[in-house]
Amino acid sequence: MNLVEKVRATAKSQPGKTAYHFTGKDTSYAEFDQSVALFASALQDLGVNKGDHVALLLGNTPHFLISLYATMRLGATAIPVNPIYSPDEISYILQDSDAKAVVALEQLLPLVEAASVQLPAIEHYIVCETTGETSEKVNALSDAAKAKTHLFTHVLRSGQPDMEPVAVDENETAIILYTSGTTGRPKGAMLTHKNLYSNASDVGEYLGFSSEDRIIATLPVFHVFALTVVVNAPLVKGATIVLMPRFSPAEVFKAVKEQQATIFAGVPTMYNFMVQYPEATREDFSSIRLAISGGASLPVALLENFEEKFQVKVSEGYGLSEASPVTCFNPLDRERVPGSIGTSILNVKNKVVDELGDEVPVGQVGELIVQGDNVMKGYYKMPEESAAALRDGWLYTGDLARKDEDGYFYIVDRKKDLIIVGGYNVYPREVEEVLFTHRDLVEAAVLGVPDPDFGEEVLAYVVAKEGADVTEQQLIEFCEKRLAKYKVPKHIEFLDELPKNTTGKILRRSLKDFVKS
Ligand code: AMP
Repeated sequence: MNLVEKVRATAKSQPGKTAYHFTGKDTSYAEFDQSVALFASALQDLGVNKGDHVALLLGNTPHFLISLYATMRLGATAIPVNPIYSPDEISYILQDSDAKAVVALEQLLPLVEAASVQLPAIEHYIVCETTGETSEKVNALSDAAKAKTHLFTHVLRSGQPDMEPVAVDENETAIILYTSGTTGRPKGAMLTHKNLYSNASDVGEYLGFSSEDRIIATLPVFHVFALTVVVNAPLVKGATIVLMPRFSPAEVFKAVKEQQATIFAGVPTMYNFMVQYPEATREDFSSIRLAISGGASLPVALLENFEEKFQVKVSEGYGLSEASPVTCFNPLDRERVPGSIGTSILNVKNKVVDELGDEVPVGQVGELIVQGDNVMKGYYKMPEESAAALRDGWLYTGDLARKDEDGYFYIVDRKKDLIIVGGYNVYPREVEEVLFTHRDLVEAAVLGVPDPDFGEEVLAYVVAKEGADVTEQQLIEFCEKRLAKYKVPKHIEFLDELPKNTTGKILRRSLKDFVKS
């Protein structure tokens, strides 16, 4: 079984069931499967075949779902890319991934113009109409760019509805995901049909997704968290995706109410915005049976505030692109533990090891390593990086963690964010958790900066609540009461907001550059 076959099976067994809801319109599984077949056969007519690479520069619209499933139906490989990356970042990924065709938002036409000259290997650009002026804009392109550019609806219309899926081996690459790249050049994690299908079905099973569920998809779909948890897992279960073009607390509450959504998935920043949203009440979230958090650590104070305000259980999980992504989640049938990423999901093994790869005793901190059908094949065209990440059948995550006696895992921090002050380890997360409990703060990020005497010292950036009158000295005293002396930030600076990527991860590299400058 793979994702394409599973959706086809649902289209046959429950043709009228809604696969996704988008801006007031329901699309059934039969209609979705039909669009996928049309688009796949049209791509084939354009010369895109099994093994070719198709980049998807798209946001949260049905174009993404159709293009992704059509690419997989062809046995080709999809490369989902964040469409708001800078032109340089996008060009790097298009070139590195050897893309033959690109499906892109209309807003990216200037990039199409430039890429048609700089990246001659790309044969086709399929542009999604979003403004009603797409044809005019395409006509204004240079002749060279125009010759390679097609409109999404025209391509869809030219396809054959009865196109059979191209046979694929489960170990062939279905997608290449360029990791968020908070450091260094992004690497393309190759995920196979088996990786994607197993993780989507195991997560869905573990979190009790059913065909009755209606799942809010406001996370960016090009990111692996959304891809598996709010796109593939619901589709595998025959559930309904409530696809939202963007995130805003007001729109989420409105969609939950109108669509009677049952599951919400978000990153901690979204939870933060939602809990701060003044007009929201318990009623706005009352149809939600499960709220899921992942992608970054969910501060305990935030989890508790959210649960209290909305009377809903928040379950935190953990994953990474290289594991398709989910490895752990707080289970439904046992107590959820605030601050923990829960236990290993079905069919995935997690282990905490020392520098030699030996498992450390319960309670001790080490690197988290992962094994299962969800683990990537390797990084595209990067044999050395692949060998460093995949050792003895395990994926080395680069995250520090510990396990308790009940099998619950806790992410301590990323290995490379560890701060060493005079030989003592300081995990930024521990300090951030304390700052998060301060009533005047909205957000906090802690990092190490060079210090001539201690090697490194602790620095914190915080965002204060509007109208709050709190000083650096008060915050330092607050930390002194709760943390060992060497963990207390030497300096605390106030910012209007923290730099984050689109999936809510704080860009520590930007903060470090900021410190330097
Ligand atoms: P990505 O590949 O972009 O999904 O990023 C994966 C990284 O996000 C992991 O290696 C972790 O550092 C971080 N991450 C994901 N989920 C959590 C979580 N629940 N707690 C802490 N860090 C997380």
